This record gives sequence, structure tokens and C-alpha cells, in this order.
Amino acid sequence: MNELHDTFDREHLWHPYTSTHNPLPTYKVVSAEGAELTLSDGRKLIDGMSSWWCVIHGYNHPVLNAAAKSQLDRMSHVMFGGLTHQPAIDLGKLLLDILPPSMEHIFYADSGSVATEVAMKMAVQAHDNPRRTDFATIRSGYHGDTWNAMSVCDPVTGMHGAFGPALPIRHFAPAPQCRFGAEWDPGDFEPMRRMLENHCESLAAVILEPIVQGAGGMRFYHPQYLRELRKECDRLGILLIFDEIATGFGRTGKLFAWEHAGVEPDIMLIGKAITGGYMTFSAVATSRKVADMISRSQSGVMMHGPTFMGNPLACAVALASTRLLLDSPWQQRVKEIEHIFHEELDGARELPFVDDVRVLGGIGVIQTKEPVDLGEFQKKCVDAGVWIRPFGLNSYIMPPYLAVSDSQVRTLCRALISILTEMMDPNEKRM
Ligand SMILES: *Cc1c(COP(=O)(O)O)cnc(C)c1O
Repeated sequence: MNELHDTFDREHLWHPYTSTHNPLPTYKVVSAEGAELTLSDGRKLIDGMSSWWCVIHGYNHPVLNAAAKSQLDRMSHVMFGGLTHQPAIDLGKLLLDILPPSMEHIFYADSGSVATEVAMKMAVQAHDNPRRTDFATIRSGYHGDTWNAMSVCDPVTGMHGAFGPALPIRHFAPAPQCRFGAEWDPGDFEPMRRMLENHCESLAAVILEPIVQGAGGMRFYHPQYLRELRKECDRLGILLIFDEIATGFGRTGKLFAWEHAGVEPDIMLIGKAITGGYMTFSAVATSRKVADMISRSQSGVMMHGPTFMGNPLACAVALASTRLLLDSPWQQRVKEIEHIFHEELDGARELPFVDDVRVLGGIGVIQTKEPVDLGEFQKKCVDAGVWIRPFGLNSYIMPPYLAVSDSQVRTLCRALISILTEMMDPNEKRM
């Protein structure tokens, strides 16, 4: 029953991006508390992943548990077509208080990928012009796994290889090269400017992750890029979509990453940490201008309405999580963690197998020269009492920042460096 690697799981359950042939082992988790996961063999792991970046207050949090239970006793779900409820209303009010000031309308959706689909549909509907249905983005981005979301993910690290001709063709500018914190180089924006000029007649919107590119490459770029982009989109009548699904709710040191640049999008996506990592949920916010364009279009209505839209349980937990966040010293805590990341990780730049080290807010990244062998890495992690899951060249730590202690952050950093060293350092291997 409680084996660490379950045979049924291995033989019948698909895990993310896996083959049914000889899949890597999975580790069974029986409970989680604060910043720790407990495995079925009793071992505890410090969580360095926030369950793919969505947990902020930690696991099994009494306030979030109470919010879910009390909503469950009232109703866990009711359709949003023709009906509404207090959790959706209260959450909407709170979100409009913290989102960019020009955001006035909110569409609740089921997951990050669906939010991307909804935002892209909104942009097409807003233009209401059969010649203006295309999208531009930057390389190294990630926007989800559904069809249109895939089409704007990085063509190399994304899934264009597997789906190539099945995907709509989008316009890609190079990823911004000018780093966050470096001096701005005006040349960095030129390829995007040229591309927008060349294709403006066909473009409905530009979609990108502001400041932090997450799953597409873990890169942090200069805020001026976004200011230039805003100007150019305005000039050419192209809508601007910010995907803040990964960057939202404090992760980068600002409540939302657009604040680093001070420019507002026309459409903004939030997800992941919106429920504190309790369940799937997302929201798409738009300015009044975009909502008016859609409402004046030929169809006249926003053409989307999922079964579980505005799910009361998710709204109640999102409300509790966001209140809890705003009442916490989150900004201070993210700064402290950023400081520890610098202390613990910066030195890794000197290691022979390390290409780059990047730190921003509650995100610490070691980019290696060669990709990491995931199976071996995960086993060593579990043996070291930590949970970190690299992708390709990027090994990163993104702990549940309001639950993790200083010493847990240090343990995560030291475990990461020592495991990478054991696996990749040629000198270490010879010994
Ligand atoms: C995770 C992520 C998504 C997709 O969200 P899902 O909930 O996994 O569908 C979209 N955009 C960004 C930036 C993400 O990090």
C-alpha cells in the first residue's frame, strides 16, 4: 500500500511529460505541512518548488483550510451562468484593488493555460477584424500546454517540435538580452520593434511574461523592454497581454511584476499562487477599453464560459489566501530570501560546470553547461531531504516563501550545489 514507488502508478498513471515506457520513479507523498512534504516511508523533504510555483503560505495552512471547509459546508459549486455568489464578488473587489489601476473587468477561468486561451480569444474578439488575428511574443516564453498557449511558447524549449505543423504560426522576437539590473541597451528592443512594424496589420496582440520568463528559460530581463513595448503597441494599435501566472502574488519582490516597469497591460493573466496553491484557478483581467471593444464587436459577448467558472470553493480559498498575503510582511520576507540566495548561490558562478547564476525575489537559478540527469538528481534530492526539480539546463529553487525558514532556504541552496557538484564536476568525479 504505502511503498515509496507505487507499481500501479508506474504502470497506469501518466505524470507530466512522461513516457509509459520505463518512466522515471515517482515518490509517494502522504502529507505536507508548512514547507515540508512527508513521503510514505516517513522521510521529510524541504520543498524548493512550491509545487510548481503556486504554494506561498505553505501546505496545510489553518486559515486556508478553514476557508475551504466553511465554503464546502455552504456549497462547493454552483454554475456562474445567470447566478453569482459572495466569494466571487469579494475576490473580484480585492483583485481590482491590487491589479494595475486600469484593470476593470475580470474573467474567472480554470487554470493558467485556459486563462491564456481566454486572453487570446479576448484579443481576437476585441479587434473584431478577420485580418487581425495573429500574435507576437518573445522567445524563451511559456504560457501553458493547451493549443494556442503552446503556439506562443518558446519554439525550442516548448512543444513546437512535437506539434509543429498542427500549431498556428506566430511571430517570435529574440528573448530580451538586457538583464534585470543591468544597464539598458536600446538595441535590445529593435528586433521586436521591426517585427511589430512589419506585421502590425495582422497582429491582435503581443503576449509575454513581464520581467521573469519562467518555464521557458528562467530568465530575468530589463523593465525598459516593457516600456518600449507599451509605446510601440499603443502606436500600432496592438493589444498588450501580460502573463503574470508565475510572477504574481509577490514572487519577484513586487506584488505583480508589471510594477517593476510601471507600464500596464491591456489584458493580464493571473493563476498559480492565486489560491495559495490549494487548487486550480485563474483569472483574466482587462481594461474597460478592451471590454468595450469586445462588447461592441459583432458577436457582442465574450465567447467563453467553462463549467466550473468562478468555482466558489476556489474563490473562497483565493480570497483567504490573498488577504493573508496582504496582511503578511511578504515584501520583507521575499527580500530576506533574495539576500540568502545571493549569499548561498552567487559563489556557484565559479564552478566549472556552471554557466550562470540568477537571483530575483523568491527565485534562485543555477544554469549549468550541460543538462541535468533528472532521475539521478531526484534520487539524490530525496536522500538529501530536499525537493528540487530542474528542467534542462536550469536548476532552480522557488520555496513557499511565507512558510520556509532561513535555515531551510540555506539547506535547499547547499543541497542543490552539492548534488550538482557530485553529478557534474569533473574533478569530483575523478576522486
Ligand atoms: C504555469 C504557467 C502557465 C500555465 O498554467 P497552468 O495552470 O499550468 O495551465 C501559463 N503561463 C505561465 C507564465 C506559467 O508559468
